[in-house]
Amino acid sequence: VSAESELGALVGMRIRILGPNLSLLYNEPIHLVRGSGCYLVDRQNKRYLDAVNNVPVVGHSEPRVAEAVSEAMRTLNTNIRYIREDYLDYAEELLAMFPAGLDTVYFCNSGSEANDLALRIAREVGHAEARRDVVVMDGAYHGHTEACIEISPYKFNRAGGKGKPETTHVMPLPDTCRGKGLDGGAEAEKILEASRRAGRPAPCAFICESLLSCGGQVILPPGYLKGVYGAMRRVGAVCIADEVQCGFGRTGAHFWGFQNQGVVPDIVILGKSIGNGFPLSAVVLRRELAEKFSSGGMEYFNTFGGCNAAVAAGHAVLRVIKQDRLQENARVVGKHILESLRALARDFDVIGDVRGIGLFAGIEFVTSKSTLLHAPSIAKFVCNSCKDRLVLVSTDGMHSNVIKIKPPVCFSMEEADVLVSTIRAALNEDLTEDILPGLLQADLDYNLKFQRERTQQRAMTVSLSRGQAQIVGFCAATAIMAGALAYSSWRSK
Ligand code: PMP
Repeated sequence: VSAESELGALVGMRIRILGPNLSLLYNEPIHLVRGSGCYLVDRQNKRYLDAVNNVPVVGHSEPRVAEAVSEAMRTLNTNIRYIREDYLDYAEELLAMFPAGLDTVYFCNSGSEANDLALRIAREVGHAEARRDVVVMDGAYHGHTEACIEISPYKFNRAGGKGKPETTHVMPLPDTCRGKGLDGGAEAEKILEASRRAGRPAPCAFICESLLSCGGQVILPPGYLKGVYGAMRRVGAVCIADEVQCGFGRTGAHFWGFQNQGVVPDIVILGKSIGNGFPLSAVVLRRELAEKFSSGGMEYFNTFGGCNAAVAAGHAVLRVIKQDRLQENARVVGKHILESLRALARDFDVIGDVRGIGLFAGIEFVTSKSTLLHAPSIAKFVCNSCKDRLVLVSTDGMHSNVIKIKPPVCFSMEEADVLVSTIRAALNEDLTEDILPGLLQADLDYNLKFQRERTQQRAMTVSLSRGQAQIVGFCAATAIMAGALAYSSWRSK
């Protein structure tokens, strides 16, 4: 059988026997058989440079992690209702990575589970005053359980979503590309005021990724979280940092993302990288919160949370990061990638912004630098074209127009150069004069539709008369069409 018909048969089988709402990456799915370091290998032995999977933080199939897990599976793998030294040693070493005060841990199996538990804790603490409301960031994703979807605009505002529950309050994402909403304190006060006016009780929690990934690789402006945390704590809300995507040395300068903002959260959520691919997650929190959560008398039990195999994976990951000085690697290689991407951005008018810290970076695509209109079709094209050139990245963000770069933190300087030169080749050689106009048109249509919908929403909230709404819509459409005319100068080089 040819490779294509084999792939077709497997895709068909997947469609038949797995749930239908699972997605596959890329225009043509990849049939993987192996991974090693920063590379993934497909059925035809093609080696893809992986610049996007942040789970294998110390590298795919890392032998030291694999050996530790397999040793635990051969020796003992049971739950945390027994005294064992492995989870105590690991908990101690993990907690030592945190600032004073974050001194207690619960082990779970996934980011969703850990966020779900954090919500339970925050609500338990706010329960005396019947506080269940949560403030979240727009575009955020915190997990797939019902409670997590209710605090994830990425889900409830998109296809199949039920819209915003009344207990959730959404802060706009700071738009560093367009200079909007950059003052965290001011935005937090606005959302708190709006929830008060709506007659809601004060929120029991504010949850935010320390660097926002699904939101489009957003780097919070300096002081942003300080401002928000201040406002939230004044009303008694617990501050939760979701470090599922950005923790474990990825940002180079610090081990945890929140440290880049100079804040100390009340609860920190760890996932993905924590086990390098072995299911493990954790809720790290202040003792006082854990005690309040426990005071009701209900036991917390989690069959696999803290089992020997998971703890072995987690402990090995910490050891490898330290032994191989991977946080420092993230700092040095990340800086090099950012500098190279900024040089790339100067050459292409469709790159509106390049941002990042360490090995967490994003490239925001726009129809042109002068209009800064979102360009999801161009971003998707570049992503697929990089994949055809054997480099893996992905797209995400409020407008799906941001290419995400978050490789294993063992990514080397040479791999960084391959990544950037591949993106350059995709823009130079694949995004040809034949292809570009069609993509630009699709993106202009997208912006027009987006503006129209937003205008309608605003018109509804400020109760504009129908005639006024049409005028606003017409003006927005005219402004976009004017932007479209600028597309002939799409490349500044
Ligand atoms: N929080 C964030 C920031 C995430 O990116 C994700 C997963 N993409 C989750 C939570 C949920 O983690 P999991 O898929 O392990 O449940």
